[in-house]
Amino acid sequence: MVVGNGAREARAAGQAIAFVPTMGFLHEGHASLLREGRRRGDILVLSIFVNPTQFGAGEDFESYPRNLEKDAEIAERAGVDVIFAPTAREMYPNGYQTYVNVDNLTLPLCGASRPGHFRGVTTVVAKLFNIVSPHSAFFGEKDYQQLAVIRRMVADLNMDVEITGMPIVREADGLAMSSRNAYLSPEERKSALCLCRSLAGASELYREGVFSVDVLREKVMEILRAESSASVEYVEFRHQHTLEEVDNASDETLLALAVKIGKTRLIDNTILGRGFPCSEKC
Ligand code: AMP
Repeated sequence: MVVGNGAREARAAGQAIAFVPTMGFLHEGHASLLREGRRRGDILVLSIFVNPTQFGAGEDFESYPRNLEKDAEIAERAGVDVIFAPTAREMYPNGYQTYVNVDNLTLPLCGASRPGHFRGVTTVVAKLFNIVSPHSAFFGEKDYQQLAVIRRMVADLNMDVEITGMPIVREADGLAMSSRNAYLSPEERKSALCLCRSLAGASELYREGVFSVDVLREKVMEILRAESSASVEYVEFRHQHTLEEVDNASDETLLALAVKIGKTRLIDNTILGRGFPCSEKC
């Protein structure tokens, strides 16, 4: 057991603890984080916790997919040493009243459409860091804003943990892997490709020398509008570090999307300067 006291003993014995926090229902995206953690740590800890404080009223906390047995198999294959899967009552006992809040970075994008979401994320990650005492922790760029917010929290609160961001893992046809893809009907699964198709479309225009965000946004919207089951929550162009809005795109520009396919809210993003990995596929 490496959580709590065990973690402090392992640290004292000079063992490097690598940590991957998740909400479970693991897929290849999570596995890529685990593999990097395995490479970087002596002890690899995975947490599985569907964190109630990061879900808003009317969101999918109750229906969020769960499969601890399959998760344990994937974890074993990835070389996880310890799975920490607490209950909500263990994490938030009666009388709980302490929260961590990152200011400006949490205001736009998903923070605007999901009030309180990032407060829940930073609170639970801070708690998990205190329990697990990791030297390094691994987060996916799939949740780009979350990664930026965690980096800020760690710097601002002098937390002694090295944060590593990992690239988005995609299905063969380009759809970004997500536990929420399980909600999609076969028809919606096809429609969901409009997210990566629109990122690819804008990335291609950018590569051809189009830097006007208005023009690039129109390209994204044109592709998304063509999909009748898609409703756009946001299409935003922001600086990759500050998340401030930009008028002219550069290699540093993050293009981030949130789109509902039917009732399922999906997010995806790319950094324009990197080129989009799957422009032929989706
Ligand atoms: P979640 O279980 O959705 O909270 O995700 C746990 C971690 O896995 C987060 O750091 C996510 O950004 C990361 N993750 C989820 N999907 C992907 C993906 N397709 N590629 C890379 N990382 C991912």
